[in-house]
Parts: sequence; structure tokens; C-alpha cells
Amino acid sequence: AFEMATCYILDQSRRRSKLGLIRLAAEFEYAAKHDALTSLANRREGLEQLETEYQRYLRNGRSFSVLLMDIDLFKSVNDEMGHQAGDEVIINVARILKEECRKVDSIARWGGEEYLALLPETDAGEALHTGERFREAIHRNPVSWEGREIPLTVSAGVATIHGSESIDRLLQRADEALYRAKRQGRNQVCSYEGSAS
Ligand code: GH3
Ligand code: MG
Ligand code: MG
Repeated sequence: AFEMATCYILDQSRRRSKLGLIRLAAEFEYAAKHDALTSLANRREGLEQLETEYQRYLRNGRSFSVLLMDIDLFKSVNDEMGHQAGDEVIINVARILKEECRKVDSIARWGGEEYLALLPETDAGEALHTGERFREAIHRNPVSWEGREIPLTVSAGVATIHGSESIDRLLQRADEALYRAKRQGRNQVCSYEGSAS
């Protein structure tokens, strides 16, 4: 009986530590893929999702689009209201983007105050539309901070995968479009103009 009891206890404790390890591994995996501030996919995970979508595109030829978004004049939020207010803004914009996107879309925190939306099976016109929806939602929802409202806008660049271009080239085109949106006065969505290849 003693032996049986010992075996039972040993077995239970092994099972428990195994469960603990599995849980710990899941937590590590989550932390490796997500941004701690916003819980969005981090840049690495965003790239991973982009690669998966790219492989799908190569197989079935259905174009996808990316939307690169950057909060306008964000530095002034940090400077005038403090870094914590800035963090709150980053969290809120992430929440709005999550709410506004379709189930099939994914949003990643691309950098400090930059976000990347991946829009599967979406052409340039639809992507521009989606970008407009994001832009309006953010414009409509100022962030409350210590009894004040922080008005916010974003600029966005859209690019749609084309021919046999690489992911790098696609991202570069989205970045160029974003740069144009900034140059033209911010709070707007621009598509890449010019040759895709
Ligand atoms: P623009 O309209 O041209 O984008 O102007 P901007 O002020 O938004 O651009 P800039 O790149 O000069 O500012 C980005 C700032 O974001 C600089 C950096 O200190 C801040 N930042 C980056 N990551 C974080 C973060 O996690 N939290 C906070 N509070 N600030 C951050
Ligand atoms: Mg930026
Ligand atoms: Mg900015």
C-alpha cells in the first residue's frame, strides 16, 4: 500500500510539473509573439503572418494589401503630456484598430507609434477604404487623459501585392505612400503611386 501511495504521489507531482512546464511554454510563446504594451502581434509575428499570406498569394494569386499607419505628431503628446499619456495613446489606437478591422485582418505594432494592418484578399480600392475607416475612427475618438482630451490623427500608406514582387518591396511601397501622406499634410491615407516593380 505504501509503495502504491508513493507511486501515486510521484505520478501526480510529475503530471503537475509537466502541466506547469506546458503552461510556462505557452506563456513564453505568447510573450515572443505579442507586444507587451498593446497585446497586438509584435513586428516579428507581423512579418510571420505576412510571410504566410504571401505564400497563399503565390499559390492562389489572390492579392492582399498592407496598410502602414503612423500617429501624427505623436512626439508632442509625449513632450506636452508625458510618456504615460503617450503610452495610453498607443494602447487606445491599437484598440480602435482592432475594433475596426475584419476578423480575417491582422494588426501588428510595427514600431513605436506605427502599426501594420495585413488585409488578406483585399485589392487596392478596398484597402484604401479600410484605411479611411481606420483614419476616421481614430479622428473621432480622442483619448481621455487626466480630464483632458487628446485629439489624434494618423497617416497611412497602402500597398497591394503585385506580380512577383517581394515582401520587402511591398513594405517599401507602403512606407513611401505613408511618407507622401505625411508630406501632404497628415491625417490622410495614400496609396503607392508609380510602378509596383
Ligand atoms: P510624424 O507626424 O511625422 O509621425 O511626427 P511624430 O512626432 O509622430 O514622429 P516621431 O517619429 O518624431 O515621434 C515618434 C515618437 O514616439 C518618438 C518616440 O520617443 C516615441 N515613442 C516610441 N515608442 C514609444 C512608446 O512605447 N511609448 C511612448 N510614450 N512613446 C514612444
Ligand atoms: Mg513614426
Ligand atoms: Mg508619428
